[in-house]
Amino acid sequence: MSKFKVALIANDVPPTPSWVVPQLEDAEIELTECPCVNNEEVISTACDADVVWIMGGSPVVTVEVLPHLKRCRVILRTGTGTDNVPVDEATRLGIVVAHTPETTMHTVAEHAIGLLFAVIRRTAVQDRAVREGIWSRERAWPDWHMVGQTLGLIGFGRIGQLVAKKVGGLEMKVVAYDPTVDAETMAKHGVASAELEELLRRSDFVSIHVPLLDTTYHLIGERELRMMKQRAVLINTSRGKIIKEQSLIRALSEGWIGGAGLDVLETQPPGADHPLLKLDNVVLTPHIAGYSDEFYDNFWNHSVKSLIEMSKNRWPLWYVNQGVKPRWELSSKTAGVDR
Ligand code: NAD
Repeated sequence: MSKFKVALIANDVPPTPSWVVPQLEDAEIELTECPCVNNEEVISTACDADVVWIMGGSPVVTVEVLPHLKRCRVILRTGTGTDNVPVDEATRLGIVVAHTPETTMHTVAEHAIGLLFAVIRRTAVQDRAVREGIWSRERAWPDWHMVGQTLGLIGFGRIGQLVAKKVGGLEMKVVAYDPTVDAETMAKHGVASAELEELLRRSDFVSIHVPLLDTTYHLIGERELRMMKQRAVLINTSRGKIIKEQSLIRALSEGWIGGAGLDVLETQPPGADHPLLKLDNVVLTPHIAGYSDEFYDNFWNHSVKSLIEMSKNRWPLWYVNQGVKPRWELSSKTAGVDR
C-alpha cells in the first residue's frame, strides 16, 4: 500500500523542527518539503500528494493548479484565514480545506485588546515623545476611558468570543454582530446581539473579527465609518481588505472617528509615504497578532495532529468548507468543531 503523502509547499515557512518528520513517519506519513513559487512547481511537487500543506499567507495554491492535484484530499493551511486558498473551487472538486485556528486565537484576541489599550492610552505617541526627550502630559493626553463604555465586536467566532471573555474584568458593555450566531448564544457570553448598523452607532470601540470573504471585503467603508461615534476607536486584527483604507484615512484625518489600531492593512507592508504613518491617532503593528513565544510550537503541533487524523481517513480537526463532499471516504468526525 502506498504511503500517505503530504507535500509542504509554502515558501514562507520556518525550518521544520527535527521532531516533525519522525513523528509523521511513525504514523506512516511521507513528507515532501519544497517551497514553491509558481504553478509548475506546485504541480510537480504536489501532484501525487494526499495533503497539500501551506502556512501563512503564501498564495501558491491557485485555481489553475487544483485540477492537477489528482490525489489531493485536503489542503491544510496552518493558522487561520483561508483567503489565500480557492475554497469554492476546492469544495467543487471535493477537496477539504483544513486549518488550525487554535494556533493563534488567544494571541490575536490579546493583541486586539492590546491595540485598544495602546490607542486609548496613547502609549505609542507618548513613548516616541519620551524618547525624543519630551516629558509632557499634554503632548498625548489619553482622552478616552473604558469603564462603562461599549465594545462592539464584528464577528463572534473563536477570536471574537475570546475577546469578549478576556475583557470581562474591564467593566465595559459588549455587543456583537454575527449573522451566524444567535442572540441566546451571545447572551451566554454576556454579550448583547446587535445588527451591524446599530453596533456601529452604539459602540465606543469596535473590533473586527471576521474572515476575508467576498461578503466581508470592504465591509467597513465610508458609510459605516460615518455611522460611528466621533470619538470611536476601530481595531482590526482580521484582514486589511475588510476596511476600505482610503475611507479610513479620511475618517481618521477629518475626525469622523477618534482613532484606530491596525495589525493588518490593505497592502502590506505600507509604502514609506502611506498616509496612516503620519497619523498620531493610529497604532500600527506588522500583522503580528498571531505570534508569541508559543507560536511555532503551536503551529507545528496542531498541524501534525491534524495530519495524523487525516492519514487515518478521519476528518481534519478543523476545516472551513462546510458541505464539502470529500473525494474519499471519511470515518466519523473525531474532534473539533466544523467551520
Ligand atoms: P471564526 O471562523 O471562528 O469566526 C469568524 C466569525 O465571523 C464567524 O462566526 C462568522 O459567522 C463571522 N462572520 C462572517 N461574515 C461576517 C459578517 N459579514 N459580519 C459579521 N460576522 C461575520 O474565525 P476566527 O478564528 O475568529 O478568526 C477570524 C479571522 O481573524 C480569521 O479569518 C483571520 O482572517 C483573522 N486572523 C488574523 C490573524 C493575525 O495575525 N492578524 C491571525 C489569525 C486570524
